[in-house]
Amino acid sequence: MSEAALPMTGPVPQARLDRRALLEFLNKHSRLLLTTHINPDGDGLGSEVAMALWLRSMGKQVRVLNDSVVPNAFLFLARHLPLESWEEERAEQRFTESDALIVLDTSNRQRIGRVAEVLSRHVIPVAVVDHHVTHQRGFGQVNVIEPEASSTGEIVFELMREAGAPLTPDIAEALYVALMTDTGSFRYSNTDSHAHRMAAELLAHGVDPQRLHAQVHTHASAGRLRFFGEVLSALEMLDDGRVVVLEASPEQFQKHGLVGSDTEGLVDLPRTIAGVEAVALFSEVEPGKIKVSLRSTGRVAVDEICSRLGGGGHIHAAGVLLRGTRADARAKVLPELSRRVAALEPRRTRTN
Ligand code: AMP
Ligand code: MN
Ligand code: MN
Repeated sequence: MSEAALPMTGPVPQARLDRRALLEFLNKHSRLLLTTHINPDGDGLGSEVAMALWLRSMGKQVRVLNDSVVPNAFLFLARHLPLESWEEERAEQRFTESDALIVLDTSNRQRIGRVAEVLSRHVIPVAVVDHHVTHQRGFGQVNVIEPEASSTGEIVFELMREAGAPLTPDIAEALYVALMTDTGSFRYSNTDSHAHRMAAELLAHGVDPQRLHAQVHTHASAGRLRFFGEVLSALEMLDDGRVVVLEASPEQFQKHGLVGSDTEGLVDLPRTIAGVEAVALFSEVEPGKIKVSLRSTGRVAVDEICSRLGGGGHIHAAGVLLRGTRADARAKVLPELSRRVAALEPRRTRTN
């Protein structure tokens, strides 16, 4: 949402009030701790780095502490400041030395993982900045939750603009990583004119898109590609070819030496098959823990299926973590997905 899109008169929209409250929150606190969701992605990490550099330029003390380690693809972002991962003692220390916590790219308390456990032992004000569809107000004293934003990075960018903060090349780079990864390199349905305008502005501030794309997308191991090959060659076509199902077993993860975040991008590939409305990936990283990822090619909403089971996401990309067997997880998800796909109007076929 751009500044220009907000009306200048009439009732003050909630979004504007929330942003203003966040800027006040940032001004009021001087020792800030930043965190994002488990298995962090380019948006979570890019938003953390951009916000940390911005806050530092305001003379604040800033620390970043996440539940999980930084995936190799994003290690280059850690050259500006340590992106620490969870360790009991370190977490206690970070909470003790901070006077406020900022949660980026999730408004779900459980998704910050073990950081949530430490949070429950410390009385510390919390601000949430996120773009996921949520049915609650967020768990912070201040919540900037804008589902229409392509990425959390876009909200950080807008906040910086409102505050009149300068976009340094390093901040522009971190924000570009956030925007590029969450829009699937400007391919997904969250790619709109705001996303492209923001990209143009970042390029004008020194971002080299080709270099950043290469930084992020050249870290795969051969094992990861073999794993993709195995999982894809067993893909199932259900509902007359309109639903694709993929499964990955703990043995497959082990055999190729992979972790949960290595499935990134896998669920998106079957979207290229003609006639597919939705893709479901059931990924059993550890026995009994099933990470479900749902994707839509644009017509069926998948976020509600996940949020009803305790997860969430966006209308066309959502996820949830389920306990039990892959068969249990399929039984919870697939009938609902099929029902939604069956309710769609038939696709118009091309006449030329
Ligand atoms: P993924 O399938 O993990 O790539 O996630 C797709 C989208 O759903 C992302 O925007 C995630 O942030 C969101 N998401 C994934 N898992 C969960 C979960 N357990 N709870 C809430 N949101 C999730
Ligand atoms: Mn994310
Ligand atoms: Mn995001």
